[in-house]
Amino acid sequence: MVVIMKHGFTQQQLQRAIRVMEEGGVKVMVSKGSETTILGAEGNAQNIDQEKVSLLPGVERVMRVSEPYKKANRKYHPDDTVVDLGGGVTLGGAHLAVIAGPCSVESKAQITQIARDVKASGACALRGGAFKPRTSPYAFQGLECEGLELLKQARADTALPIVTEIMGTEYIDLFEQSVDVIQVGARNMQNFDLLKKLGRHTTKPILLKRGLSNTIEEWLMSAEYIMAGGNSQVILCERGIRTFETFTRNTLDLSAVLAVKQLSHLPVVVDPSHACGKAWMVERMAMAAVAAGADGLIVEVHNDPPHALCDGAQSITPEQFKALMDKLSPLAVCVGRSL
Ligand code: PEP
Ligand code: MN
Repeated sequence: MVVIMKHGFTQQQLQRAIRVMEEGGVKVMVSKGSETTILGAEGNAQNIDQEKVSLLPGVERVMRVSEPYKKANRKYHPDDTVVDLGGGVTLGGAHLAVIAGPCSVESKAQITQIARDVKASGACALRGGAFKPRTSPYAFQGLECEGLELLKQARADTALPIVTEIMGTEYIDLFEQSVDVIQVGARNMQNFDLLKKLGRHTTKPILLKRGLSNTIEEWLMSAEYIMAGGNSQVILCERGIRTFETFTRNTLDLSAVLAVKQLSHLPVVVDPSHACGKAWMVERMAMAAVAAGADGLIVEVHNDPPHALCDGAQSITPEQFKALMDKLSPLAVCVGRSL
């Protein structure tokens, strides 16, 4: 249930509305937006007398919320959430954020060069996997802790915040100390133990990728797990879903961007690289994502794609990344954003 306060309500009226809701056995989240102030009931709102609350002075109206996600729900928080990535970089709002970098960190020379190149083209953050979730146990698993160190060096060199994937709860302390944005990969989207602990034990932003075969509601419920633990800094990432189609690696669900932006206040980025799996498709899919209203992109860029240790076929070169950024600039303006 949410209670929408009238314009010009008094503090006394607000406190009274909160009290009546609490008497009904719920915790109350107060969301002060630019236009309205909203009281969201956390917990079972069955015992609250909706009629009584709606007649309280200062109350505009009361809405029942049928969706199972609350903190992630736009009804509880009408204004868009802007996530702070560190180093003065934000994601959400008018500025379009582009995160770029290799699938995995391979060497100091590789990550340093790519970081410098993508920064020069306007990327706002550096991605790169240190711990890789690979389908085969025989495939390159990432440089692990050494990879994290190399990412930190690239950050020191370029001042770009770093985004990298966490594989399990045992790494939370290490990631808390090392990285700026913690990525939860598609395969871990429903690792509820990980989500709960990321909610409770870190305040770092979480880039939550949509699972390979998960619905929009399941994805938002995973965001809710993180937020319920106390971490409200969640970025959703659409990275393609499994369908019957095999030509592309996955099927980019751009309608999901519109759906989650309507249902939730959380920012949404699109990963065109994993969505299509083909470098030649990345530019157009990235442009389509921006046109669809994404708050940002996360793109795989490699200085030598044919020899990449992971995901070379979908990685664009730094030159192609620059060309993409040049095309995104005027497009961003068309959809009311800047780059
Ligand atoms: C990645 O970002 O390199 C990755 C493994 O992504 P996903 O979890 O979307 O497959
Ligand atoms: Mn990858």
